Amino acid sequence: CTDEVSKAKAASKSAGQPTIFSKILDKSIPADIIYEDSQCIAFRDVTPQAPVHFLVIPRKPIPGISDVTQEDEELLGHLLFVASQVAKDEKLEKGYRVVINNGPDGSQSVYHLHVHVMGGRQMTWPPG
Ligand code: ADP
Repeated sequence: CTDEVSKAKAASKSAGQPTIFSKILDKSIPADIIYEDSQCIAFRDVTPQAPVHFLVIPRKPIPGISDVTQEDEELLGHLLFVASQVAKDEKLEKGYRVVINNGPDGSQSVYHLHVHVMGGRQMTWPPG
């Protein structure tokens, strides 16, 4: 929606600054964390867009997928692997959607790389 788009455009101006997700990582603000290891954490999205909606984020503060370098290749694989394992724990055996929004056109609003996993309902295509 238009609101999401203006929020994303405004947020892109703060790219590179610490984000709300750094506070979740350092536990200075609460989140419903459902998985964590040395490289990443997964927690429930505060505004779920599906019955199950969680985010997988690296501990490393990479602003977005367009900012990765070759040294992040393994980490990127790990984030997707964790997404698949947590989806299994969440019993999404009928399927789910994995999304990475990037930059203003991608409607990214938090500039700390995150993988969305949504499931528990029929998804449609194309997304808005
Ligand atoms: P969009 O807001 O357009 O979905 P992003 O892809 O950047 O853009 O997603 C950021 C996600 O982070 C949103 O789904 C939002 O609901 C979620 N979020 C923001 N703050 C928190 C928080 N404190 N705890 C959990 N999820 C959060």
